[in-house]
Amino acid sequence: MSIRPDDRVCLTNDEIPKNWYNISADLPEPIPPHLHPGTKEPVTLDDWKGIFSKASWYQEVSTDRCIPIPEEVRDAYLMLGRPSPLQRARRLEAFLKTPAKIYFKREDLSPAGSHKPNSAIPQAYYNMKEGIENLTTETGAGQWGSALALACAHFDMRCTVYMVRVSYDQKPFRRLIMETYGSKVFASPSNETEYGRSVLQKAPDHPGTLGIAISEAIETCIHQPQTRYSLGSVLNHVMLHQTVVGQEVMQQMKKIDITPDYMIGCVGGGSNFAGFSFPMIGEKIKGKNETEFIAVEPSSVPSLTKGENRYDFGDTAGMTPLVKMYTLGCDFVPSPIHAGGLRYHGMAPAVSQVTKLGLVTPVSYEQNQTFEAAITFAKTEGIIPAPESSHAVKAAIDKALEAKKNNEEKVIVFNLSGHGLLDMVGYGRYLHGELKNSSS
Ligand SMILES: *Cc1c(COP(=O)(O)O)cnc(C)c1O
Repeated sequence: MSIRPDDRVCLTNDEIPKNWYNISADLPEPIPPHLHPGTKEPVTLDDWKGIFSKASWYQEVSTDRCIPIPEEVRDAYLMLGRPSPLQRARRLEAFLKTPAKIYFKREDLSPAGSHKPNSAIPQAYYNMKEGIENLTTETGAGQWGSALALACAHFDMRCTVYMVRVSYDQKPFRRLIMETYGSKVFASPSNETEYGRSVLQKAPDHPGTLGIAISEAIETCIHQPQTRYSLGSVLNHVMLHQTVVGQEVMQQMKKIDITPDYMIGCVGGGSNFAGFSFPMIGEKIKGKNETEFIAVEPSSVPSLTKGENRYDFGDTAGMTPLVKMYTLGCDFVPSPIHAGGLRYHGMAPAVSQVTKLGLVTPVSYEQNQTFEAAITFAKTEGIIPAPESSHAVKAAIDKALEAKKNNEEKVIVFNLSGHGLLDMVGYGRYLHGELKNSSS
């Protein structure tokens, strides 16, 4: 038997995209502007620049279709495993006895174990260029914290991470990865900030949320010199950075001459889904494909399937700008599911906008269903997916089974946003029958 060319589609070093793709250039209705929490007027560069890098502001509001990726960032992308392969899941197809073809993009191969360095690297880079020495951030499952810790080590910067307490307790190795890269890590809510102390006073056992951790990271950023804050998802410039993924996928699909019927990604704040799908959604807006884009979320954090589309805060204390998004309310406390990266009350304004425009189909699954799918994937393809990515795996399997029922040779492409090797406690609880749905 010969090796089949579409089993693993690779790109050469210089096929790493030279620009990020900005969907704002192609949207029939623009993403509504972020509003200042005090004045309710659109945020200005002056409001923004004490907290974020200036470069990120121009990217946040830009309507240019192509935004150049700096050479140093492309170098770092290369060093950290880009371009990543697109792989065919033949053994999964055989197991399901489906006529569908299933492909997946390998964002699990980065040193941090997820897609998150795609934005951590440019965010650290631009801050470093602007003379900033220290970044603060929050992390849920620990993936974003690990990615930013890695990026800060790469550009010789310091990094302070507020890690949602439930993950801090469930995932001690994530914390150690961040510390290995030289970052400081606190369980949030913490005693380090005024806001953290106020939460702990009311609820000493609070499991923490991303919203609270964001508030703590911003408070620390405001009170320290030469410090800025960095957000791992939700904002337009983060979606932009992740489009390196979807542009690679488009080149890879072209090489093996396939057109996807479905492109599937899990959604927490929305960045891996956006990065993976926006370049193809841009083409769909121009009438160049008929792909269905499926965003998968946990039933216990149903921002896209059950949230309201309105202005809300990105954090819990109300320090961030108001952003227009599908939201469950900024004080929503999601149950401590193992897909910690999907425990966010809102959805990126860009992903919210394409969903509102009818370009995305949102679906949701219970935790047990996603672990079952993850184990099928691990046994057939040999890769243990992150609990977050397992939501995409589950939707891909369902589409493959639907294709089987209808005897259709559909092409399914999903984003494997990360591996689950540091999430084995969750796997253990599933395997030993200790996992409930919609809770821990
Ligand atoms: C953080 C994370 C997610 C969710 O975040 P998005 O911004 O929605 O991509 C999904 N998968 C993995 C592996 C993650 O680390």
